[in-house]
Amino acid sequence: MILLDIIEKKRDGFELTKEEIEAIVSSFVSGELQDAQMSAWMMAVCCRGMTKREISDLTLAMMDSGGKADLSDLPGIKVDKHSTGGVGDTTTLVVAPLVAACGGTVAKMSGRGLAHSGGTLDKLESVPGVCVELPMERFKKTVMELGVCVIGQSSDLVPADKKMYALRDITGTVKSIPLIASSIMSKKLAAGADAIVLDVKTGSGAFMTTLEKSRELAEEMVDIGNALGRKTVALITDMNRPLGMAIGNGLEMKEAIDVLTGKVPLTDPLVKVCMQLGSHMLMLSGLADSYEDAKESLTAALLSGQGFIKLRSMLEAMGGDVGYVDDPELLVKVSRVVPVYPKANGYIGAIDARSLGIAAALLGAGRFRKDDVIDPAVGILMNKRYGDWVSEKEPFAYMYVNKEDNLEEARSMLVSAVEITTEAPEELPLIYDVIK
Ligand code: URA
Ligand code: CA
Repeated sequence: MILLDIIEKKRDGFELTKEEIEAIVSSFVSGELQDAQMSAWMMAVCCRGMTKREISDLTLAMMDSGGKADLSDLPGIKVDKHSTGGVGDTTTLVVAPLVAACGGTVAKMSGRGLAHSGGTLDKLESVPGVCVELPMERFKKTVMELGVCVIGQSSDLVPADKKMYALRDITGTVKSIPLIASSIMSKKLAAGADAIVLDVKTGSGAFMTTLEKSRELAEEMVDIGNALGRKTVALITDMNRPLGMAIGNGLEMKEAIDVLTGKVPLTDPLVKVCMQLGSHMLMLSGLADSYEDAKESLTAALLSGQGFIKLRSMLEAMGGDVGYVDDPELLVKVSRVVPVYPKANGYIGAIDARSLGIAAALLGAGRFRKDDVIDPAVGILMNKRYGDWVSEKEPFAYMYVNKEDNLEEARSMLVSAVEITTEAPEELPLIYDVIK
């Protein structure tokens, strides 16, 4: 098969065969297909799109590019949860322990943050001592004992995605439904869970900014999962503002601990989205018959502190110093907390969530390049939300700072990310749709 012909065929808008797609992926992983050629092919995919059949074949070819986790010796239905990437969105740290406290089995592999979006592994590592690279046997043992463990992907899982993502990041080919759907689903399938709940973000802080595109992405991923025998559900949730109040790793870990220790009201948006995600995880696990049933169990697990105990035990099993879990203020000890004031009196009428994520990254909470080192304690704590009335005299956010380097740039990004209006904005839905 001539690889150049396959690139040209997609460039000209034709549908590729399963064999052609497999040839592209395997020759790229082996090094025969050069980076420039793969970049050209992915740009052609971006511009021309793919049929459902092509997306499914691409996902399988990527999944088969490396090792797979075999969780079949763990009892019960193993359920995973995955977000397409958001800002101030610490749902995994809340939901995974709660589902485990309700009898679920959560064996999850997570990723790191990149650019404006946070990643669960970085949040876990905000607790000193935590090791996210547990050997498979220890991962399974922890899942067996506690019902929950969240680790990093082992290095041999979907090598095709690692290589492709690195190119996509520098060639303007991230924002493509076939490439995102295959990237996420190849990893989810290789990670071995029986059931998958996807949290597809939509809005200013998401990869897919329109509801229409987000729905398309969700439908593709749900179709792939179900076609391959995994029970898959997607929720489309709002990312036109940060979900929680905290943006930054230790800050988000503290926020998750605050939720699980009852310090955050059940009406809070973060808690509401967690309840929805968790309910679908319990239903797919066969542990609840209805959404109401599931929500009742999750609420009981939260209020009794059982969810908190699961999170604490998991972090301890991963080597974490639980002194930081018991006194989460220790997670966010910084040299300076800097208040940020709005540019006018009025309502917060819109928030550019992506800019908030970038401002937090500028303070050291995120990476602009893969090898940037994160400071776990820094970031942004919002004091006001979308729709709140703010005055010029009262901070709408606080910056948690250790280094002054990018302080002014971060402050000005924060101030301009928040649009002040004279009238209260319309309420935004938290959850737009559930795709089954
Ligand atoms: N997350 C992924 O894992 N892959 C993508 O392409 C986008 C978000
Ligand atoms: Ca992610």
